[in-house]
Amino acid sequence: MNLKHFGEFKFIDLIAPLCSLRKEGVIKGIGDDCAVVELDNSRYLLVTTDLMIERIHFSKSFMSPEALGRKALSINVSDIAACGGVPRDAFISIAVPEDLDIEYLQDFYRGIRQIALEHEVNVLGGDTTGSKADLVINITLTGVVKKTELLLRNNAKSGDLICITGTLGDSSAGLAILQSNASLPHAIESRLINAHCDPRAQVLEGRLLAQSGACNAAIDISDGLSSDLAHICKQSDVGATIYESKLPMSDELKAASKALNSNASNFALNGGEDYVLMAAVKLSQFVRLQTAFQENGSEIYAVGEFTDNGEMKIVLESGEVKDLVRKGWDHFR
Ligand code: ADP
Ligand code: MG
Repeated sequence: MNLKHFGEFKFIDLIAPLCSLRKEGVIKGIGDDCAVVELDNSRYLLVTTDLMIERIHFSKSFMSPEALGRKALSINVSDIAACGGVPRDAFISIAVPEDLDIEYLQDFYRGIRQIALEHEVNVLGGDTTGSKADLVINITLTGVVKKTELLLRNNAKSGDLICITGTLGDSSAGLAILQSNASLPHAIESRLINAHCDPRAQVLEGRLLAQSGACNAAIDISDGLSSDLAHICKQSDVGATIYESKLPMSDELKAASKALNSNASNFALNGGEDYVLMAAVKLSQFVRLQTAFQENGSEIYAVGEFTDNGEMKIVLESGEVKDLVRKGWDHFR
């Protein structure tokens, strides 16, 4: 048996029991967007880490080094946002092919610095080694959250609304455009490619969810809605129903899907790398939360509800009800 047959998430379940020795001070280990440990009386420390490998996660020909640096830090900030926290300190490790220009790496760090300045993140260390072929980037990021405001994946309740804090599918459509030779109007292409290459981590939205008291669970959408919804369902022991007609999709995504001969809902449900947040929101609190989002220039959409039947369903535009099959990103599938 190898990882291709086993799958990334079953693998993590397999090794999780081997990973923890000491329970003291650990609020959450493997299984959420961040690990959560005691910091002081009122706050938890959050820790997250992400690995990006050339030709798997990015292509140097699609992205400037500056954009790569921005994205590498932003996807970690997104995991802190999903827990309701604010980022603090980063550690950056890189494995560099020996023929890579120093200017490329300087530009990469300029990109990192732009996002670090936005979120007041210090880079406190890391490691540098050689690589035979591909550029490898690993960032570890800490954050803090008030104990009363921590958001995890495991507390969604049947009856909660499934809410999304932005449009879905733009990033994966942007990648599809980069990988195709389709030629689309500039405004459409640039919005979608920008969503893929330069996602914005939603710290403000995470803080609004966390402070509202209206939110029972949250995750950031990195693998795709169908896959990340399955994480909340599994950990919260609930099911979910999504309505295709309610999926927030940009006009640009719809136009590009036509041009690419693809289905816009498929990008929205399974695309991944949107880095918007998905939250379980108490039904009675949704309108209040929506107002708070509007007042802050942000958006939140209700796309379905959590249920008690343990299944994931989708109600199609046609009214037909189908199983929502988890088709998001799994590295080994
Ligand atoms: P995210 O998509 O939010 O970054 P992942 O799906 O990558 O989260 O990871 C899920 C959980 O599994 C996290 O708690 C992560 O720290 C943990 N994890 C992933 N890979 C490993 C590994 N090789 N060893 C230990 N823990 C891991
Ligand atoms: Mg995450």
